[in-house]
Amino acid sequence: MSSVGIVGAGPAGVFAALSVRDFYNTDVVVFDWQEPLTTLFPTGGGRCNFSYFETDVKTFASYYPRGSKFLLSVLSRFGMNDTVDYFEAIGIKSYVQNDNRIFPISDSAKTTAEIMLQRGNILGIKFKKERVNNIFDNGKKFILSTENGDYEFDKIILASGGKNFKLARKFGHKIISPRFTLAPLEIAEKQYYELSGLSLKDVWIKVFFEGKKILNIAGDMLFTRNSISGPVVFKISSICVYDDYSKDKPLELQINVAKQSLQYLENYVENYKMDNPRTSIRNSFNAFCPKSLFDMILIENGIDPTKQIAQMTKKERNIILENLTSLKIHVTDKVNGAGIVTAGGVDTNEINPKTMESKLVKGLFFAGEMINVDGFTGGFNLQNCWSTARVAGMSVLADEEENA
Ligand SMILES: Cc1cc2nc3c(=O)[nH]c(=O)nc-3n(C[C@H](O)[C@H](O)[C@H](O)COP(=O)(O)OP(=O)(O)OC[C@H]3O[C@@H](n4cnc5c(N)ncnc54)[C@H](O)[C@@H]3O)c2cc1C
Repeated sequence: MSSVGIVGAGPAGVFAALSVRDFYNTDVVVFDWQEPLTTLFPTGGGRCNFSYFETDVKTFASYYPRGSKFLLSVLSRFGMNDTVDYFEAIGIKSYVQNDNRIFPISDSAKTTAEIMLQRGNILGIKFKKERVNNIFDNGKKFILSTENGDYEFDKIILASGGKNFKLARKFGHKIISPRFTLAPLEIAEKQYYELSGLSLKDVWIKVFFEGKKILNIAGDMLFTRNSISGPVVFKISSICVYDDYSKDKPLELQINVAKQSLQYLENYVENYKMDNPRTSIRNSFNAFCPKSLFDMILIENGIDPTKQIAQMTKKERNIILENLTSLKIHVTDKVNGAGIVTAGGVDTNEINPKTMESKLVKGLFFAGEMINVDGFTGGFNLQNCWSTARVAGMSVLADEEENA
């Protein structure tokens, strides 16, 4: 009987194991020094946001800043719908939240993990709590070494996540520089940290780096006590992960807090002044900016908040409108150690997306975050695990079946 060894019992490794056994009557052994699926537990804040409801494969793939082209073929073989159906078939019913994120009905990553492992048990998958130190290809078999000894396998699936590339490197694979992403960002204007807890809904943001506009993006953001955060900030951290910004060379965010054009606000001010001449400047822009942020803008620019709007000078008006349509914040760094996903990893040019087999080493397959594929928050990174693992699992012994 053939045998398949899998390195890593995270979501990708375990789903690859289930998939191998769904297709082939073969021995499957999964190695990890941690308990299986430990890394699934914190996902979605413990609720396991395991995919995202989007049926168009091209649109789905566009949510991955790295690997979208590679994933087209993978997702068309096993995508969001297939995952939902598979999970339902093994007892993990799911629901779609109003922002399109998909969760198990249990709202529990632990329960999801238990059901997957029960399924693994039924299929006879073996788990060994051992760290894989080395793998040799002797031309006939792969010899996998752990601290407890050597094991022989016909095929290997590497699913060791975004922090362990030693084995892939050893096989000669190119590793695109790994960097943590999906992180809150530190900013130069520390005074905004006083606004901790304030969220800005669906603001428009232009991002500049070294004087060039590199991104136009919209979404929700949040001020925290030591960073800016929220979905749009996570997206910026992801898209700009390879821009080497720093204190000396920051990313400049120009935030349209009002979500209006300058022209619109100019007309608004003229009309408002005529209708409400005695209203204070502070109370004249409630529709366009949360009060705490607006107060800070006025104080920072030395504008008296109690002044009547009719007395506002042209210079003051320009400063206010400039800040409402283009508030400048400079990003100097990611919050240290806060990224939850790795950008970079095994170069997709060296993997066949139809099978997930290495183009360099026959019989060696890849799955999950260790590949140079990463997505935004929303369930995309787990979907990458399920899809790549399924394709690896269904392909791993296809050549032996053909030869039989
Ligand atoms: C806090 C947090 C929340 C998240 N929430 C979500 C979410 O809601 N939705 C989403 O889509 N994504 C989420 N993610 C990302 C998602 O968890 C990862 O993309 C996913 O876990 C990657 O799975 P993987 O199996 O490829 O790698 P991993 O989960 O990293 O698993 C790899 C495993 O390999 C083992 N290993 C490594 N080297 C060896 C070796 N030499 N020998 C033996 N074992 C080895 C490791 O111990 C590990 O258990 C979140 C991540 C974090 C950190």
